[in-house]
Amino acid sequence: MGAFIVERDWDGVSVGTDMPKMGLKVSSTTPVRFKDVKVPKANLIGEEGDGFKIAMNILNYGRLALGAVSAGLMNQSLRDMEKRAASRTQFGVPIHDFELIQEKMVRTAAHAFASRNITFFTANLLERDSLANVAIESSHTKLYGTDRCWDALYDALQIAGGAGYLRTLPYEKRMRDFRVTTIFEGTSEIHSIYPPLTLYRQYGSEVTKRGPVGKLLFLLRLSRSNPLKRLRAGHPKVDRALEVAARSESMFRGLLRDGFMRYGKKIVEREFHLRRMTRLSLSLFWLVASVASMRSRYDGHYPEDELALLEYLTEEAVAVQRKVSDEQQSRLERAHRRVFASISRH
Ligand SMILES: Cc1cc2nc3c(=O)[nH]c(=O)nc-3n(C[C@H](O)[C@H](O)[C@H](O)COP(=O)(O)OP(=O)(O)OC[C@H]3O[C@@H](n4cnc5c(N)ncnc54)[C@H](O)[C@@H]3O)c2cc1C
Repeated sequence: MGAFIVERDWDGVSVGTDMPKMGLKVSSTTPVRFKDVKVPKANLIGEEGDGFKIAMNILNYGRLALGAVSAGLMNQSLRDMEKRAASRTQFGVPIHDFELIQEKMVRTAAHAFASRNITFFTANLLERDSLANVAIESSHTKLYGTDRCWDALYDALQIAGGAGYLRTLPYEKRMRDFRVTTIFEGTSEIHSIYPPLTLYRQYGSEVTKRGPVGKLLFLLRLSRSNPLKRLRAGHPKVDRALEVAARSESMFRGLLRDGFMRYGKKIVEREFHLRRMTRLSLSLFWLVASVASMRSRYDGHYPEDELALLEYLTEEAVAVQRKVSDEQQSRLERAHRRVFASISRH
């Protein structure tokens, strides 16, 4: 596969008319067709065969940008929520006195903080080496940011109540514009399975070239190694975050091993298993990125507000671990298969 520069006025290149979209209307989206287009050698970017690597690299930057957009829009949503929740009175008190309103604001603040930290973590890797392989980090950055930001947009409109539904306020436009971010640059479904699949591919050749005993030893080593376990930061809340991250890592490695042993090459079809792995990997990523960000900025004297956000994110990671443990072999997943068999008519 190669990457080429193709100009739109060349023979064989045709650009269709703008397609009407639900949002992002300032951005033009059209079909582009190529028919027998002749491309001069000088328009080859890099070397022959570099195309896939170049495309993946471009995607890394696009996904990173979506992480940044998400963090920014979550912060804006939080400011809107704060303003509205402080000024709107119901049952004789401002609505920010209600736990169900506070819950939305706290969740948005924590997710904006984590999304920012994850984005900076990935950006930092690319700053050190602009061609670094950050496929998993950028995938996580995009998935975490866009999914959490979509929830924040929903919550901000909810706090605005009936007024939030009016087109005179920004919520409707934001939801329309933002909706596509869980679809382009790789859908949320693909990002929920792609990072572990990358690892299965990476380790797959190692596993298949060994005999039964060698394979078992390799998988045992893979599942027992846990570099995060040794990390400490000297503050109880930060250390707890690192301990929980290490537990997510160890659960992730357990599932990686189980996937090889139980499903072999059929692992690509076990999307619930893969998604569980991604959830664990994300949970350790948001903790490690947040700790890294705090350590780089505070030299051990952490501000209380960030410690509180970290504590919240730590408990969210614990909840992910619980959910992953409960889900394995759950009745719900078995019921899912039976229901799908009964509703599937095509
Ligand atoms: C506004 C806009 C701008 C765009 N700009 C560009 C651009 O500049 N360049 C470009 O190349 N593309 C662009 N796209 C295309 C975009 O990248 C694709 O729409 C997107 O990748 C999804 O592919 P698809 O539409 O073929 O959906 P499909 O792949 O058909 O997906 C349909 C559904 O199936 C799910 N699905 C698919 N495979 C799996 C699986 N293995 N497991 C579970 N679920 C799965 C998807 O998540 C989705 O929910 C743009 C799209 C839009 C809307």
